[in-house]
Amino acid sequence: MLNVKINGKAYRVREGTTILEACREVGIHIPTLCYLEEISEEGSCGVCVVEVKGAKTLQRSCVTEVREGMEIFTDTPLVREARKLNVELILAHHNIDCPVCERNGSCELQDIANRVGVKDVRFEQAPFFYKEDLSAPVVRDPSKCIFCQRCVNVCDEIQSVSALSIAHRGMRTFVGAPFGNLLVDTPCVNCGQCIMYCPTGALTERDDTMRVWDALNDPDKYVVASTAPSIRASLGELFGYPPGTFVRGKVATALKMLGFEKVFDTNFSADLTIVEEASELIERAKNNEKLPIMTSCCPAWIKFLEEYYPEFIPNVSSAKSPQGMMGAVVKSYFAEQMSIPPEKIFHVSVMPCTAKKFEAERRETWSHEFPDVDAVITTRELAQMIKEAGIDFKNLPDSEYDNPLGEYSGAGTIFGVTGGVMEAALRTAYDLFTGKKLEDVEFKPLRNFEGIRVAEVMLDGVNMRVAVANTLGKARELLEAIKSGEEKIHFMEVMACPGGCIGGGGQPIPSTDEIIRKRAEALYTDDEKSTVRKSYLNPWVRELYKNFLGEPGSELAHRLLHTHYEKRLLWEKVGKSN
Ligand code: SF4
Ligand code: SF4
Ligand code: SF4
Repeated sequence: MLNVKINGKAYRVREGTTILEACREVGIHIPTLCYLEEISEEGSCGVCVVEVKGAKTLQRSCVTEVREGMEIFTDTPLVREARKLNVELILAHHNIDCPVCERNGSCELQDIANRVGVKDVRFEQAPFFYKEDLSAPVVRDPSKCIFCQRCVNVCDEIQSVSALSIAHRGMRTFVGAPFGNLLVDTPCVNCGQCIMYCPTGALTERDDTMRVWDALNDPDKYVVASTAPSIRASLGELFGYPPGTFVRGKVATALKMLGFEKVFDTNFSADLTIVEEASELIERAKNNEKLPIMTSCCPAWIKFLEEYYPEFIPNVSSAKSPQGMMGAVVKSYFAEQMSIPPEKIFHVSVMPCTAKKFEAERRETWSHEFPDVDAVITTRELAQMIKEAGIDFKNLPDSEYDNPLGEYSGAGTIFGVTGGVMEAALRTAYDLFTGKKLEDVEFKPLRNFEGIRVAEVMLDGVNMRVAVANTLGKARELLEAIKSGEEKIHFMEVMACPGGCIGGGGQPIPSTDEIIRKRAEALYTDDEKSTVRKSYLNPWVRELYKNFLGEPGSELAHRLLHTHYEKRLLWEKVGKSN
């Protein structure tokens, strides 16, 4: 510990911490636009400056370590004026169109300009040199970029994708895809984590709400919605509810008020995914082939594998994701039951995820000549539509989802949390593999937010080693350990976003660790309260097999519910073309 003085008061602070961290620990919050704990320590925005006794210039507190006897001043007239000046300089390079910006109300730049007392910008507006990049589900607007490089660091350090970089200098500084490429031509996996950490509206998701409004207003379309597990625990935040408030019934009511004919639950198809995936797991484990089997429900993870580890593509379960399965079943089983031509159905998938927009466009996920999922909107986009329609979300009564695709087991709901897919699969695999009934269905060692979790499960005398990777950076570590022979795993779950889909790139901003944990608790509680907690016992899933698909893994199930993946290696092409 070190002895320091902050604003004239003596404190003992940890050696090795920066001034910014030390101040936070004693309850003094220094404003910053580029710092992210353990991820981004750029010192680029200059908003966190402080005075240090004896130093000739102001110090950037996020990159200056505390020293014994240091005297720090965080709130002098000089500090206040410098912060204001730096924010004004940032604003002079920023396209200030707050009323029409997606981040209006959740923008850190807006908030900090207000906090440091900026009332006017004394500088001329700088010219903008670069166009918007609309090529991918993650949209980049350079005119709103403040060059903080949080996105670069998050993409690099959390996801180990490195699709973004900084180039040029001065007024021509540019943060985005390297070598002037469009994002679509890079190994970007569309996870949207850069959006979640961007302090401004420079990164957003592609807006697909207009296409949904058009479909809702088209008398020739039969428009249905399906909603992902995690939406029910996060959408409420955008209407003033505390994080983790369970709003499933209100979501159904709001969607019906918007004009959707039917509202289905992606939890149902999560159960279906488990039935197909568990059957595949059992088959492969018995024959000891293509192990570890890897989960396939996260499209960012799938693209990551296609880009960086194509040698593992045969290991991925061929079962489509819950979104993919819902799409296929809506345009086959449901269309048949209702005698509606599948091409008349417009299926909107509400997801916590920007990568699901990409997944829906992949030809190999379609079961017809047209997409199974016509539009994917994020949690944020759904909230926007509800607000545009003037629906008073907080005062809505609850409604039921629609069958035959609206009921789910507790296993389906925990898909939204890291480790949940694995836990759900083990509940079904145990019963089907052993012919016995698993009594304690909660796999506690899998229920935490560690980057990599490994556990052992006995299935009828076979010792299964299972692993969960939380983020792509951790998946890379695990894959390297498997490749080198250091780890032997039978079954592996990867979710790209921190905490799983509850921390997805389409979720409400902010999504701090604390908020993500609250959303997770809501899903675990929903599971606990469920009378059916194993996917294969979902009566509507059983009905679907009995009336339509036959057995898990049947020819029809394969045609509709399974897919394949391809080697991409775009990172090689980006390197070679430059
Ligand atoms: S895009 Fe956003 S996160 Fe990235 S450098 Fe610009 S402002 Fe920062
Ligand atoms: S979407 Fe994900 S992979 Fe793509 S640039 Fe952003 S953080 Fe990187
Ligand atoms: S973890 Fe969930 S939200 Fe994130 S990319 Fe994967 S599927 Fe999408």
